[in-house]
Amino acid sequence: MELKDKSEIKNTTSHQATKYRNFPMVPHVVFGKGSFNQLGDILMPKRKHSDSPFVFLVDDVFEGTELANRIPTIFCDQIIFISAGEEPKTQQVDSLVQKVKNEFQELPSGIVGIGGGTIMDLAKAVAIMMNNDGSSSVYQGWDLVIRPSIYHVGVPTISGTGAEVSRTTVLLGPEKKLGINSDYTTFDQVVLDPDLTEGVSKEQWFYTGMDCYIHCIESLNGTYLNAFSQSYGEKALELCKEVFLDGLTPCESRNKLMMASWHGGMSIAYSQVGVAHAMSYGLSYLLGVKHGIGNCLVFQHLKEFYPEGVALFNIMREKHEIQLPEGLCANLADDEFNTMISVSMSMDPLWENALGKDWRKIITPAKLKSIYQKI
Ligand code: NAD
Ligand code: ZN
Repeated sequence: MELKDKSEIKNTTSHQATKYRNFPMVPHVVFGKGSFNQLGDILMPKRKHSDSPFVFLVDDVFEGTELANRIPTIFCDQIIFISAGEEPKTQQVDSLVQKVKNEFQELPSGIVGIGGGTIMDLAKAVAIMMNNDGSSSVYQGWDLVIRPSIYHVGVPTISGTGAEVSRTTVLLGPEKKLGINSDYTTFDQVVLDPDLTEGVSKEQWFYTGMDCYIHCIESLNGTYLNAFSQSYGEKALELCKEVFLDGLTPCESRNKLMMASWHGGMSIAYSQVGVAHAMSYGLSYLLGVKHGIGNCLVFQHLKEFYPEGVALFNIMREKHEIQLPEGLCANLADDEFNTMISVSMSMDPLWENALGKDWRKIITPAKLKSIYQKI
């Protein structure tokens, strides 16, 4: 969300002058063990005709698995398996759109993304670009999308990012890593089936789960906090604590982390993230470090900004015996540090949320370098 919107939410006292952000939510959601089996019925009324397919963008970790066989394809529907090994790129979105347009005479009835944040973001971006001209990089920013996206559905298979509820799709473009933030980005339908997250490795479960935890800490400790964000953030934090600290059964744990992700995403929709995300964007831009682990790598060193949050993070990390990589920035040259620092410092709203309007008095290039050097 834009800075302007936030300060309006927080500071306006006059009823007359108040202009609040009016943001979209996912209008349809189904939750529950095995709910993926309903996908065929959910899509049926959205099918335009037999020549207008559904295109399923699916994490290639599922290629040849039972889940792939359960995807409800009919007519000329297409499944495209995609690697989530790298974060989504504008060029990748553009070539997927071209591929679908070349293959079919008609616009698809819809796009379904089955995977984590990477695949869900791709699905959102492809759905937007099926109806908008040019390269997806043109629309990176806030409210630049001109025409509504086609119908699109998100099916998360790992929990934490909140990409299933957010109005953004984060893309690495030729010049910047930035979301397509728009009212057309949000999914029309989400299917939350916790069973789909069963095969996630412990490390990835932790990294993506901590993305949610860090969303909560940054939102709840931010200057943009308001009752809307707080209500979702507190619930998400409570669920994260249960998942990562209590002895839940695997099934309960999957259910609760899926809902934590949802609430965490809702919390930042009406506030903003903070220091860990601002710095993690720099790491990701320069070194290609993925979002979840990047946040963890930064967050462990943010005791001065989030003392309680970092203390609890360390307890959770130890409990689950997660070894974070070390020495990532050990051999970087000055110009590389400068790239990370300038990417990070360009995230004004994140810094302002974290530290207030005078954040530049606290956050200097030297300060950021000293934190990056620890990673
Ligand atoms: P991911 O989609 O990158 O997947 C991480 C790994 O987990 C991949 O190797 C993937 O194959 C694997 N995986 C996923 N589901 C699995 C399953 N059920 N079984 C086994 N392996 C599985 O992970 P993520 O952390 O969910 O997403 C990160 C991406 O999300 C980044 O690109 C980030 O920019 C984006 N993001 C978007 C938003 C948003 O609001 N749009 C918010 C936060 C992050
Ligand atoms: Zn995040």
